[in-house]
Amino acid sequence: MDISRRAPKPPQRPLATTVHDSGTRRRQQPNKPATPKASDALPLPLYLTNAVFFTLFFSVAYYLLHRWRDKIRNSTPLHLVSLPEIAAIVSLMASFIYLLGFFGIDFVQSFISRASHDAWDLDNHHHNNFLIEDPRRRPPQQPQPHPEPLISTLSTEEDEEIVQSVLVGKIASHSLESQLGDCKRAASIRREALQRTTGRSVQGLPLEGFDYASILGQCCEMPIGYIQIPVGIAGPLLLDGFEYSVPMATTEGCLVASTNRGCKAIHVSGGATSTLLRDGMTRAPVVRFASAKRASELKFFVEDPVNFDALSVVFNRSSRFARLQSIHCSLAGKNLYMRFTCSTGDAMGMNMVSKGVQNVLDFLQTDFPDMDVIGISGNFCSDKKPAAVNWIEGRGKSVVCEAIIKEEVVKKVLKTNVAALVELNMLKNLAGSAVAGALGGFNAHASNIVSAIFIATGQDPAQNIESSHCITMIEALNDGKDLHISVTMPSIEVGTIGGGTQLASQSACLNLLGVKGASKESPGSNSRLLATIVAGAVLAGELSLMSAIAAGQLVKSHMKYNRSSRDVTKISS
Ligand code: ADP
Repeated sequence: MDISRRAPKPPQRPLATTVHDSGTRRRQQPNKPATPKASDALPLPLYLTNAVFFTLFFSVAYYLLHRWRDKIRNSTPLHLVSLPEIAAIVSLMASFIYLLGFFGIDFVQSFISRASHDAWDLDNHHHNNFLIEDPRRRPPQQPQPHPEPLISTLSTEEDEEIVQSVLVGKIASHSLESQLGDCKRAASIRREALQRTTGRSVQGLPLEGFDYASILGQCCEMPIGYIQIPVGIAGPLLLDGFEYSVPMATTEGCLVASTNRGCKAIHVSGGATSTLLRDGMTRAPVVRFASAKRASELKFFVEDPVNFDALSVVFNRSSRFARLQSIHCSLAGKNLYMRFTCSTGDAMGMNMVSKGVQNVLDFLQTDFPDMDVIGISGNFCSDKKPAAVNWIEGRGKSVVCEAIIKEEVVKKVLKTNVAALVELNMLKNLAGSAVAGALGGFNAHASNIVSAIFIATGQDPAQNIESSHCITMIEALNDGKDLHISVTMPSIEVGTIGGGTQLASQSACLNLLGVKGASKESPGSNSRLLATIVAGAVLAGELSLMSAIAAGQLVKSHMKYNRSSRDVTKISS
């Protein structure tokens, strides 16, 4: 195992070992009041209870043996038992069960904890040799009064030896895949070593049923299993004349049901329409000069159309699909931030844009040798952080999606009315978010839908931050009879190739939407379609939740349906 990454072990010595009334050994943190124990609930103190059962056990055992000796002497059959003997047998069994439960478990656990301590001792040795430990980096450990039983998934003795090598640091955990050439086996061994190092069981985290080779070098390092998230289906979502069944991976009850209700309202009203406003991934390096004047000279240089054309040629060499669209510069003194925007085909495009930017920086270094590249990403991009630049300029796909919902649909399907929805939207999504100082958060719960689709389709869930930027507008039409609802989302960052999209489950969800992989006929059309589907599903989710709130169902259903799976309004907003 990579020693520098080993999980900190539970403390051993600082814990005072105290002997409790019964003689059982329990750990207690020094200077901490003793926590209540189950034994406190007994009618007698624990040591008295133990004494009673001990006495009972030995006295009835003595009595029974005595009786059986008499029976053998008198040639009385042993199976003929009197009432006192039956009572004695029952008492013997009861006291035996009590004593076994009390002392037997501690006895077994003493072996388990001893094995765990051995592993920690080795760990200590390595820490002393190679690392200076910063105590602030150690998460506080809870005392483990009863270490958990560890269930091994190892199949061979050879695997057991490899686990030992990992535990003593002879084999680095991160190198198991390359050393064994078998990703599943590597995950199994790493998992076992981890359990023994931490003394914590990961039973429940599945190991079987996953293709570990498919994530190697791409999606996740040092795997020990995978998390299961249920996938629900909302729809059909009628968008731009086509129906889509939208997969949503979530553990939030009612989210799919609520989105489904929104899809129904949109469908019976004739469907939603989407427009892609722009499509460009961004990356903004930060470079430093000796003076602000020199930094400005580079800004004017890259913004000159003639130079821009030359830079585009250099940038576009990075990929068949990367096409430079613009460079937006911003200065902070003598530091220059250049926000490159490019189209990236069907890929979400972070790798692609980064490669292109690196090409341009190398090229610029010839004309600007005094340019000091501080970082390929200077946060003006802005990736995975709330930032006004994404909200205003957009990042990834900018989409607007709208629908007209008829009066009777608002009444029958959404159980509310147009005026209530319009007013709620103004006071909640617009004024309320303004009061909150929102940045891109002028909506009820766009991130709920975005995250669920992102996880199902293998997008980067961390990009939910800017991808969920959304302003929801609800306006009355036809003298207040019908309703116009729209969502405007400037930064939907999605791809249908690369990253997690190639994994079997995620790829199946993309396939369901008809956007799996790269589009051969029109590169980029799959990822653009996926972005519009995300916006369409958000439209459905907004419509449904806003209706629930307008109808006053939200709090009521929180109270009423907290343990039910039927309600469609119990969504965090
Ligand atoms: P990202 O830039 O989103 O991290 P990757 O670089 O992991 O994506 O994956 C994109 C890769 O897929 C690139 O190597 C690119 O050449 C290839 N590719 C094949 N077809 C397409 C397409 N239609 N659109 C974008 N990339 C494509």
